[in-house]
Amino acid sequence: MQDAPFLIAGAGIGGLTAALALGRAGFSCLLVEQRTQIEEIGAGLQLSPNASRILIELGLEPVLTRYAATPEQLLVRDGTDGKTLSTLPMGVSMVQKFSAPYWSIHRADLQTVLLDAVRGLGTVRLIFGRKVSALVKNDDEGLIVTCSSATQSEDVSCRSLIGADGLWSSVADLIGPAKVPEFLRYQAWRGLIPIQDWPSHLPKTESRLWLGSKAHLVHYPLRRGNAINVVAVTSDAENRLGWSHPGERHKITDRFREWAPDAKDVINAVAEWSVWSLFDRPARPQWGTHRVTLLGDAAHPVLPFLAQGAALAIEDAATLAKDIIATPTDVSGALRRYEAKRRPRASQVQEAARANGRTYHLGWPLNKARNFVMARTDLSKRYDWLYSFTLS
Ligand SMILES: Cc1cc2nc3c(=O)[nH]c(=O)nc-3n(C[C@H](O)[C@H](O)[C@H](O)COP(=O)(O)OP(=O)(O)OC[C@H]3O[C@@H](n4cnc5c(N)ncnc54)[C@H](O)[C@@H]3O)c2cc1C
Repeated sequence: MQDAPFLIAGAGIGGLTAALALGRAGFSCLLVEQRTQIEEIGAGLQLSPNASRILIELGLEPVLTRYAATPEQLLVRDGTDGKTLSTLPMGVSMVQKFSAPYWSIHRADLQTVLLDAVRGLGTVRLIFGRKVSALVKNDDEGLIVTCSSATQSEDVSCRSLIGADGLWSSVADLIGPAKVPEFLRYQAWRGLIPIQDWPSHLPKTESRLWLGSKAHLVHYPLRRGNAINVVAVTSDAENRLGWSHPGERHKITDRFREWAPDAKDVINAVAEWSVWSLFDRPARPQWGTHRVTLLGDAAHPVLPFLAQGAALAIEDAATLAKDIIATPTDVSGALRRYEAKRRPRASQVQEAARANGRTYHLGWPLNKARNFVMARTDLSKRYDWLYSFTLS
């Protein structure tokens, strides 16, 4: 059993971070990803200091700074009249305060960096085009997991199964019944603007959050400032499953036609939109059993209104690895310690993200009251609880 690998389902952000943290400590891992390759799907992710600190500890700073951008500040603006409501200093201020940067990065870039690091280890075997599909045995004596593709299926003996397989996790379903993710009637429209197409009168090095009625707009730099990531979230009953449906340009420009001129300029500068519908799922009663556990979205999907989906998956992965490293001969004990530590944090972040979603999407006249309060809010301390996280 001690020689059997840790089987990690899903080479997303959480699964790759777990493989890197465990593999660096000398543990043998098998990373199984259902996709046949890493694709350029998705757009920007924000890596606040709680996540960047962990990636730096994993030795990734030199390579990540080749891809990430470091916004100087976040400006919160009124979507209608364009007035600045509040400011959060980022850039140097974040490093001074939290000893780690606030980065923004393309999801595909982060995934590639993690994948290269994992490939360089020698302790992690990667299998693409295969998914974890069944549990044959999971008890104190051992664990056998079925991994299958369209054409073949194989039973693998492993030391532990880590379900890092995202919002629609199959591993979670193998542990026990769970609530199906619920469509929240929000749609996220994503676009990437090459810096040469970015309106010249708009700043290139800051993030902005625009608050309107039943919609909000966020943009921030990526790729060392060579592109700007744009996300416009609207309250909308249309439900499109999956990460990347083509978005109809006329629909989104029409939706923002009465917004402040700078916000409209951002929307109009996007040549191609993708749309994804937002789903939520309440915290699961159980994250694991015996030798199986979950991490990231599989355990606790986070709505994007706090920009913490990737960050929490990274925190989970590093915490789990630390607990396993502490008691390698008692893996089940390590998994339960990890789950007990992570549950309260994940629930707190999930709830804070939901609350932001409700506030950001208020309709008239409550949106006016929200902006009045926002204009009197000091953002500089608001997220200390979130960004100051360190591994325990
Ligand atoms: C294609 C894609 C694009 C995304 N784009 C964005 C974006 O633009 N902005 C944003 O904020 N967030 C995006 N996200 C979500 C964000 O990356 C996650 O919320 C966050 O990183 C949490 O990561 P995770 O590791 O828990 O799950 P994910 O990053 O979602 O990774 C889960 C992985 O598991 C794989 N998988 C699923 N089932 C199985 C199985 N049974 N066996 C093996 N592998 C399996 C999936 O293919 C995926 O690679 C995207 C996620 C994906 C998968």
